[in-house]
Amino acid sequence: MNPQYQYDIFVIGGGSGGLTVVDEAQKLGKRVGLADYIKPSPHGTQWGTGGTCPNVGCIPKKLMHMTALIGEIRHELTATGWQGVDPHSKHDWNTLVNEVQRQVKGINKANDDWLVTTNGITYYNKLGKLKDDHTIELIDKDGQSEFVTAEYIVIAVGSRPSFPTDIPNVKLLTITSDDLFSLKKAPGKTLVVGASYVALECAGFLTGLGYDVTVMVRSILLRGFDQEMAERIGEFMKIQGTKFIRGTIPTSIEDVDGKRLVKWVLNGQEQSDIFDTVLLAIGRSADTQNLGLEQVGVQTNKESGKIIANDADSTSVSNIFAIGDCVQGRLELTPTAIMCGKRLIKRLYCNGNQIMEYSDVSTTVFTPLEYGCVGYSEDAAIKKFGKENLKIFTSEFTPLFWNFANRKGTCYAKLIVKKEDDIIIGFHYLGPDAAEVTQGFGVVIKLKAKKNDLDNVVGIHPSVAEEIVQMQTWK
Ligand code: FAD
Ligand code: NDP
Repeated sequence: MNPQYQYDIFVIGGGSGGLTVVDEAQKLGKRVGLADYIKPSPHGTQWGTGGTCPNVGCIPKKLMHMTALIGEIRHELTATGWQGVDPHSKHDWNTLVNEVQRQVKGINKANDDWLVTTNGITYYNKLGKLKDDHTIELIDKDGQSEFVTAEYIVIAVGSRPSFPTDIPNVKLLTITSDDLFSLKKAPGKTLVVGASYVALECAGFLTGLGYDVTVMVRSILLRGFDQEMAERIGEFMKIQGTKFIRGTIPTSIEDVDGKRLVKWVLNGQEQSDIFDTVLLAIGRSADTQNLGLEQVGVQTNKESGKIIANDADSTSVSNIFAIGDCVQGRLELTPTAIMCGKRLIKRLYCNGNQIMEYSDVSTTVFTPLEYGCVGYSEDAAIKKFGKENLKIFTSEFTPLFWNFANRKGTCYAKLIVKKEDDIIIGFHYLGPDAAEVTQGFGVVIKLKAKKNDLDNVVGIHPSVAEEIVQMQTWK
């Protein structure tokens, strides 16, 4: 412990990454400080402790996604003889929002209790700003400042939704995922702008809840993901009733009697429609403005605002580290921020030498037909290894329980294998419980398993995952 400083380590930002650092350092007996402060959305939406994931990200999103899936099961319930279920019954938005917020507040309370009662942690519900390389200014909601010092500083301030710069009043005429999960009024007819994780997940569950939903796609679905899988997601969403307008962006959004008149240009023609809600999901920007980074010499990418850190999470100032969504080139996922925080503390205090690896991270897009993947997409594998050097196995299948109510559409899986050594370098699964199925195959890919290893695995029958160990069809 260096008595020169008040804290051994001070964390700015109490989300997935920041809270992990606090937890791990506290367990080692370190004097830990944390500043976490939520700047309200343009509509004034605010939330409690825990960062994006439990408040306005993974958790409320998954709860709403599951609610839509539960709605879908009404058809199977009716078909299998359950009495008193109306497959066409209406959904009540406010009941769902209240339940989601009840669960979110439960997580906030657990965090609050832990932060306030744990020895060694001092929690400031204040905005952190760097003053020099060991001093942090802490600003409360009334603008009052205090200063603290620390040997190490970790910046984990996450990201916030981006807005287009060329549409007047866009921040007030639209909502983002920061507002959706606590929205007081049902969204109604909704335009979702964007075509990646957030956009497709929200469009999927809103359609499932019974709203008239249109997705406006600037270019492709799910950039960076396997494009065959992405297109299949789009097709499935269309079957469920989501509409798509492809190859354009809004040119203007206006208020007309409380509704939103949206205009866009398609094939040279101006088109328009009126929506109750416009949900922007066009990516997220690092929350690094006004952090005092420049003043202290922490380098950022001038365009994105993201902090530049090396593999050991060190910024251009050696005792200041940065982890999670606010760092350039990192995957924006909760488990990566958590593992990164754990490894950082091990390196700082326990002679650890492992850095965070961002390759072969499993992920799932919680669209109505869920999509889990790990490793190379087909497109990226062909680019890197050449088509002639790959074997691509696929399987199209229908889960047994879909037959009760004759669900439309099919599920699909794909394995990408290097011919040279038979190693599986890409796993893609589009079907029920994708996160649960994909997690196990994440281990398979990490262990550099061969296709022959999978061929030696006896499947579990009847299941959807057995499709993956039985794949024999080459593309
Ligand atoms: P955050 O969790 O964003 O935490 C940063 C914290 O710092 C916030 O509390 C912020 O208010 C605070 N802060 C900012 N500036 C300051 C300051 N100057 N002083 C004090 N405090 C400050 N990931 C998954 O793995 N699975 C999912 O299913 C998933 N779903 C998502 C759904 C949505 C709608 C969104 C938006 C994200 C989703 N994510 C998901 C991504 C995941 O939420 C983020 O990757 C993760 O929360 C990043 O953690 P972080 O610690 O970097 O930042
Ligand atoms: P992304 O950065 O992944 O995607 C942004 C989307 O918006 C793209 O489709 C992009 O299109 C489009 N876009 C960008 N600018 C504009 C514009 N001006 N007008 C119209 N469309 C535009 O952002 P997301 O917000 O979807 O997700 C952020 C991150 O959060 C993800 O990368 C993910 O890591 C994390 N997340 C994880 C989830 C999970 O694990 N299930 C769920 C949700 C989020 P184009 O392709 O043309 O650039």
